Amino acid sequence: MVPLRHVLRAAPRLGGLWARPAARGLATLSEEHRMLKKTCGDFADSVLAPAAAGYDKSHEFPAGHVRQMGELGLMGIDSPEEYGGAGLDTLSYAVAMEEISRGCAATGTIFSAHNSLYLGPLKYNATPEQLQRHMQPFTGGQLVGCFALSEPGNGSDAGAASTTAVLKEDRWVLNGTKSWITNSWEASGVVVFATTDKAKKHRGISAFIVPMPTPGLSLGKKEDKLGIRATSTANLIFEDCEIPRENLLGKEGDGFKIAMRTLDNGRIGIAAQGVGIAQAAIDCAIDYAAKRNAFGSPILKMQCIQSKLADMELRTESARLLMYKASLLKDEGKNFTKMAAMSKLAASEAATFCAHQCIQILGGMGYVSDMPAERLYRDARITEIYEGTSEIQRLVIAGNLIKEYGL
Ligand SMILES: Cc1cc2nc3c(=O)[nH]c(=O)nc-3n(C[C@H](O)[C@H](O)[C@H](O)COP(=O)(O)OP(=O)(O)OC[C@H]3O[C@@H](n4cnc5c(N)ncnc54)[C@H](O)[C@@H]3O)c2cc1C
Repeated sequence: MVPLRHVLRAAPRLGGLWARPAARGLATLSEEHRMLKKTCGDFADSVLAPAAAGYDKSHEFPAGHVRQMGELGLMGIDSPEEYGGAGLDTLSYAVAMEEISRGCAATGTIFSAHNSLYLGPLKYNATPEQLQRHMQPFTGGQLVGCFALSEPGNGSDAGAASTTAVLKEDRWVLNGTKSWITNSWEASGVVVFATTDKAKKHRGISAFIVPMPTPGLSLGKKEDKLGIRATSTANLIFEDCEIPRENLLGKEGDGFKIAMRTLDNGRIGIAAQGVGIAQAAIDCAIDYAAKRNAFGSPILKMQCIQSKLADMELRTESARLLMYKASLLKDEGKNFTKMAAMSKLAASEAATFCAHQCIQILGGMGYVSDMPAERLYRDARITEIYEGTSEIQRLVIAGNLIKEYGL
């Protein structure tokens, strides 16, 4: 056996564990990522957070904030620079998503559906002509995109898509209904999944880019939701909706693969959203506990309050590290499916836990909408449902784990 101290001494020179960017990145963010975090954090504190309660109440899309995010370069944060994006890495996307969601979780949802669910599949699968036409106009924040996989009859079981696409001469004709589509009311484009060969089951699903509006595509009513109320969520109804043949994304039959890869990436974003919500709950709880007196002293001094804060911090920081690790694995071109699912699961549980504890620390003030705690609690809940429920994340984690053991 080689003594451990020799291994440790050799590691930096050999480019071993200590020299790997992932190891450094988990300990501290690079200066560029710290600067990005500060810029997004300042935007969240000065613009998003003060307005979040108002948008939650009015159920209104924060169009001005989306435009401002475009001006900051955030609406194409990890899209290629040649198509107007900022060309940053996945860790940058995650860092930005955490800060935006800390200020306003609904704005985080809009940011993530646009960047990760609409621009993401284009980035990895579109032709240069498609990128020019369907990505370039979207990276500046003037246009917003969406992603339509779920259907009324199947959400978790995405391979059972019943929406169809049939090629008639040089046009694809789409029929079916997609449900729960984020950004649908404001979107100017959507990546849609439809069956082109039913006999092949999930291998017969293909992806398409559909500009919005398009004849034959109509919107359902805006859902009245528990949380992230400033986002629009609605059905997309396709009735003999015709699009040009060249709007097929990737190859025929690639749709399921494209959808699953998009969701792997997207889960890192939802993890970041969960961490952002959890952090907002910690910030709110500490601020309140420092000012609120009971039995002659600030409640922050009470052991039971400190114990709650310790648990909140532990879960949030653990989820943040998993989210950084999933981002770094992806940026290094390594398999990150299990880590993305783990980070989403940990972060969604941290968000729900921290928002719950925040309400408890605020007492009665936690239960009313004058304070952010109850909104954080409602917003946190969606991170356990979309882009794969917590049950599905556990299936992904266990499936990958069993594979790692060669079983
Ligand atoms: C606000 C909001 C925004 C959304 N945005 C989008 C969007 O932009 N685009 C889009 O395509 N979709 C979107 N969705 C849909 C979302 O991804 C689905 O709701 C989610 O995947 C769950 O699907 P479902 O609702 O059909 O639930 P179901 O799949 O019917 O699941 C119901 C329950 O059964 C459990 N379950 C299902 N299968 C299994 C299994 N194999 N093992 C264990 N448990 C299981 C689930 O975990 C859940 O608890 C959005 C949903 C919401 C609420």
